[in-house]
Amino acid sequence: MSDALVIDRIVRSRRKTVALLVTPDGRLEVRAPQRLSRGQIDAIVAEKSAWIRKNMERARHSAEFAPAREISEGSRFWFLGRIYPLHLSGNGVARIHFSTDLTLPVKALPKAADMLAGWYKNQARKILTEQTEVYARQFGLKYRSLRITSARTRWGSCSQLNALSFTWRLVMAPMEIIDYIVVHELAHIMEKNHSRAYWNQVERMLPDYRTRRKWLKTNGRLLDLSIDADESRIR
Ligand SMILES: [Zn+2]
Repeated sequence: MSDALVIDRIVRSRRKTVALLVTPDGRLEVRAPQRLSRGQIDAIVAEKSAWIRKNMERARHSAEFAPAREISEGSRFWFLGRIYPLHLSGNGVARIHFSTDLTLPVKALPKAADMLAGWYKNQARKILTEQTEVYARQFGLKYRSLRITSARTRWGSCSQLNALSFTWRLVMAPMEIIDYIVVHELAHIMEKNHSRAYWNQVERMLPDYRTRRKWLKTNGRLLDLSIDADESRIR
């Protein structure tokens, strides 16, 4: 009754053995010899499924619940491009609420990372669904589904079947940047690459996209995400 594991990427090389790798954001990569068939790879993955699932679970858990930095009085949290310092109060309700700052009772500290991740994720689902619908409607684009991930290494992606995914960390960025990522992924519905034709499409949808992309390049790492140049990732 267990679901088949999805292989996110197969990298073929001259190697003689198969290596399975679970990435920090919980995706499965297979390094395989040139001649090994897809059926043989699937059999190996099936055989190692318990190990893979254990590591995916571990990756997912650490990505969601272990922020790169310590959470304490004065820790700074981004939301929609603004910074909110954390204020620990003696008592009160353990509830995430951003106003001029983010206040949490001291007793909620052990759960703070968990609570924040959950809060960001809800915001991300709401904001990204809305913005994606706005741009998709405006440009007559149809996407298959929209998923919120905990990825640290990419902002978003668009699959061959036009399934979109965005990391919840994106809502730390200003709205204009969120829109750029939304447009970036929607444009991949028409062009599954980063060709000249692709960027022309992005420019038609968002004429000032270069400024936004530059902001991301300069400030992206402040949002705890590294930028990576793989296809269908943000450059
Ligand atoms: Zn891309």
